[in-house]
Parts: sequence; structure tokens; C-alpha cells
Amino acid sequence: MSGPSARRAAEDPAGRTPESGWSVHVDRGVCGGSAICVGIAPGRFRIEDRKSRPVEERIEPDERVRDAADSCPWEALTVTDLATGAVLAPEQ
Ligand code: SF4
Repeated sequence: MSGPSARRAAEDPAGRTPESGWSVHVDRGVCGGSAICVGIAPGRFRIEDRKSRPVEERIEPDERVRDAADSCPWEALTVTDLATGAVLAPEQ
């Protein structure tokens, strides 16, 4: 499929372009403050009040962030695909 109909198929019924990229969430109630995520994905997380916080909550795909979520000992990090809503990490 190509042309205008293909473009329409990529839009939601309201005609908006779907979101792309990833959402990064830290459950600060669960985070143990180990800073492993900061070490694995420098520039993507920062420690505030002994808890991690994403520098940006919406990012372009970055495998380091997925690795950080898979490596978090408290499973406090969640990476979600904005286009599909699928949880990309941690692995279920
Ligand atoms: S790796 Fe997990 S527990 Fe450690 S600071 Fe990052 S989010 Fe918190």
C-alpha cells in the first residue's frame, strides 16, 4: 500500500499522527537508588534525592535505556513503545 491511503492508515481516527519513540518511567517508590541505570545509560537518567529520574520521559529508541531497564535490580524502570503501548523492558 502506498500514497495517501497508506498515510491515512498510519493515523488514528481523529487524523492525528501516532506517537513514536519510547516512554521511560521510573517508579520512584520502588527505586533503590543504586544508579546502575545512570552507569548503563549515561545522560538518560539522573539521581535526585537518592532516586533515579529520567532526563527525558519521551526518547528516540536507545538500546542502552532498554538495557538499563532490564538491569535494574528493583525493576523500577519501565520502557514502553509509544506507538503500540507495548512494554519493551523489563522483559516479562
Ligand atoms: S537501576 Fe533501578 S534501582 Fe537503581 S537507580 Fe536506576 S531505577 Fe533506581
